[in-house]
Amino acid sequence: MSDNSLPIFNLYINGQWRAGRSEHYEPAYDPATGEVLAHVAKADAEDTRDAIRAARQAFDHGAWPNMAPGERSRILHQIVNVLEEHQTELADWEMHNSGATWRKANLMDIPTGLVHFRHFARLADFEPLEPLPQITFPTLSYNFVRHEPIGVCGQIIPWNFPFLMAVWKIAPALAAGNCVVLKPASYTPLSALKLVEIIHETGLLPPGTLNLVTGPGSVIGTELCTNPLVDKIAFTGSTEVGRDVMRQASSTVKKVTLELGGKNPTLILDDAELDIAVEGSLWAAFMHNGQVCEAGTRLFVSGKIYDRFMERLVDRASKLHIGLPADGTTDLGPLISAGQLRTVEGYIQAGLDAGATPVLLGRRPTEPELAHGHFITPTIFTNVRNDMRIAQEEIFGPVLSVIKYDSLEEAIRLANETIYGLAASVWSADIDRAVKVAYQIRAGTVWINDHHIISAEAPFGGYKQSGLGRELGEWGMKAYSEVKHIHVDLSRVRKNRFWYDILTPQIDD
Ligand code: NAP
Ligand code: MG
Repeated sequence: MSDNSLPIFNLYINGQWRAGRSEHYEPAYDPATGEVLAHVAKADAEDTRDAIRAARQAFDHGAWPNMAPGERSRILHQIVNVLEEHQTELADWEMHNSGATWRKANLMDIPTGLVHFRHFARLADFEPLEPLPQITFPTLSYNFVRHEPIGVCGQIIPWNFPFLMAVWKIAPALAAGNCVVLKPASYTPLSALKLVEIIHETGLLPPGTLNLVTGPGSVIGTELCTNPLVDKIAFTGSTEVGRDVMRQASSTVKKVTLELGGKNPTLILDDAELDIAVEGSLWAAFMHNGQVCEAGTRLFVSGKIYDRFMERLVDRASKLHIGLPADGTTDLGPLISAGQLRTVEGYIQAGLDAGATPVLLGRRPTEPELAHGHFITPTIFTNVRNDMRIAQEEIFGPVLSVIKYDSLEEAIRLANETIYGLAASVWSADIDRAVKVAYQIRAGTVWINDHHIISAEAPFGGYKQSGLGRELGEWGMKAYSEVKHIHVDLSRVRKNRFWYDILTPQIDD
């Protein structure tokens, strides 16, 4: 390491911070400036196994899984109280390491993450027993269900919302009594490390309950997905890696939840209120430069209002201010990496080659202060056919594909013609009509007259190849619980037993 003044982050295993076996560290960068922010330990497979063993030990012999729900809830509430005191600091790390704008980090990423954490702290305080209806087959019996933690959870998260994704993984898992090994994305480990550091300093979790390992997904991810001591894998990221995670986890039949990509339709109906639908479409497509799985990147606009709508949309999009994230007037910061910038430029070229019309063409800004970041301005393509790559593949950048439609039935059919099914939005002044459209969209979330609204109480997840299972709401807790049925037979008469005539030695009684 060259610069000793930079922070150093180690692996968090069994309640202690330590270097990886290789003692190797990787730099973590600011994607807006190219500056190195910190050095982060690079774990190998054996380090990962240490973390898994610590979580296994904590689950099999530690206090956390068997703690009274009220006590677990109280601890999680205390943790959120402490995290709330560190909001500004967490937002700062998020902004610098992920390219989130100051406004997004401070008004959305961190406060939303804390609201979601609080939600699971509250849900932790539940009696995990559920009554069943009276069962009389074959004799009177007493039945109930007990929700129990699954065990050791391997959790793998992406670079686009590093703090929120860390919360979505560890909060429900801990609330339901599991033990965790978290692996942040290599580009953006810092806010998750800070989160775990703050939790560590509270001293409230038994050692091994929460572990964090940083390093390459191919090594750590593979160990988490295949190690027999891991009971569940929760993954958020690309559909391509998600398929691999599912395949790897199948060797030991782990419970798997996946939150994968999207190519989400935004449907503008002919009676949409233009003021809000234009801004809403921008918000849907360009929030965090489109580096969002539920981004509305395919925009279907009714031919009846198309010209008026598009004129305003392009005008507004061209006014989005691209700049350094720390500047309070910046709407769009950088993309996460040089590689992601090249990917986005490749898709813009693919759109041009396929014959789509660039009514707004993205370019790298020329301002000197942006020269070292991965910046690109928004692109809007019209004359897009739904079979073009720019309409079918997840770009994860500020590229919007617009399709004009004549009949709503056709628009719904095209909206559903994708391997994905994460989210959609429908914009109309007629709520009855919009709800009927929502019913016909094959996606896990449909917003009417809004987009990207993710609440702690509502389920979030994908149809089709956008994923498996749901996060948040009560569904998020259930994804971290096993269901155990307990049957107590109440009859003491042997002859009344179901099996009496099937398998009982013939005796006189
Ligand atoms: P990714 O490759 O799917 O990575 C997501 C996470 O999985 C990271 O922590 C990554 O670790 C880890 N990983 C990588 N290879 C793995 C493997 N073989 N087994 C287990 N875990 C593995 O996503 P990305 O590289 O960050 O982004 C690529 C594309 O994914 C984007 O362009 C976008 O289309 C999509 N994406 C989707 C979402 C979403 O929320 N749905 C979020 C981010 C990205 P490393 O960071 O160490 O590689
Ligand atoms: Mg990757």
